[in-house]
Amino acid sequence: MSTLVIADHDLGVLSPATARVVHAVAELGPVEVLVIADDAAAIAQSVAAIAGVTKVLTASGNSVADSAEALLSTLAVRYHYVVASAGSVGKDVMPRLSAKLDLMPVTDVIEILGPNRFVRPIYAGNALQTVTDNQPKHILTIRASAFRPAAGGNNAPIETIDTPVISTAKLIAQHRTESDTPDLATAQIVVGGGVALGSAENFKLIEQLAKKLGAAIGATRAAVDAGYAPNDWQVGQTGKIIAPDLYIAIGISGALQHLAGIQGAKKIIAINSDPEAALVKLADVALIGDLFEIIPQLIAELEKASVHR
Ligand SMILES: Cc1cc2nc3c(=O)[nH]c(=O)nc-3n(C[C@H](O)[C@H](O)[C@H](O)COP(=O)(O)OP(=O)(O)OC[C@H]3O[C@@H](n4cnc5c(N)ncnc54)[C@H](O)[C@@H]3O)c2cc1C
Repeated sequence: MSTLVIADHDLGVLSPATARVVHAVAELGPVEVLVIADDAAAIAQSVAAIAGVTKVLTASGNSVADSAEALLSTLAVRYHYVVASAGSVGKDVMPRLSAKLDLMPVTDVIEILGPNRFVRPIYAGNALQTVTDNQPKHILTIRASAFRPAAGGNNAPIETIDTPVISTAKLIAQHRTESDTPDLATAQIVVGGGVALGSAENFKLIEQLAKKLGAAIGATRAAVDAGYAPNDWQVGQTGKIIAPDLYIAIGISGALQHLAGIQGAKKIIAINSDPEAALVKLADVALIGDLFEIIPQLIAELEKASVHR
């Protein structure tokens, strides 16, 4: 029962999500990984190093759904599972592939219980559903943040596929956010700020703290809507799903829609002036007080610690 994983990559670099997806599906059988990219060679090398990958396939083209559809539906016959991370490519490609193959996808998988039993969150993460998928083939999207990455050190063979990726979609423009902080969806530490920051200028406090900790930056929808933080920092039901080892939630009340995005966090520290806030009650450690006093002190202490190191 072999598995085909579609690699996630950007600007010629493999996303850390792929190693997590490979780890997630490793117990289901041999794992082959498909890289669709105009210049796939470097990405394929990174994929080949992931433990558990038995073969890397490369195809030239882009992984936009209507371009990749013909290739994927041809390839899918060979595999029992076709899998992608539940990121933008997976959410684009897998529904179209499923429709083409007349299969029901199982999306946002956070645990694999057996060959056809998968756990996924429903109702904005307020309940978990165990799905028994009795279809002959399984189309899955995996929440990469719910799984540890597979180790490196492998040297899987790389094979080029001749079947062309027919590009019907034309890429007109890409608007990118430049950031030197870790990827929010796979970061080990995330510092999140809420609307209590009061302005985009003040939100820089969150950025400074995140930088000191080597953390990714998150925000609530209220902070994003107020224009304090960019849209791609939003965490929650309508934002990114995160599962860091540590989430530091600053001036965040803990609305259900925000909590839906942080359920995978292993430890939570809440900094809030309200001891009754939902996130304070949920947190492993809570600092009750004014964030504008606490955060500069924290940054100063971290600076002192780094000088003495
Ligand atoms: C359909 C839908 C989807 C949504 N999706 C999302 C989503 O994906 N992500 C998301 O985050 N929200 C989402 N929301 C919005 C969500 O309901 C909340 O409105 C939002 O999360 C609240 O953000 P907040 O915690 O920043 O603000 P508030 O709820 O206003 O909380 C501010 C907190 O800051 C504290 N505070 C104030 N001043 C200070 C200070 N000086 N020092 C320390 N603490 C202070 C307060 O005690 C309070 O706890 C969604 C809503 C809907 C309806």
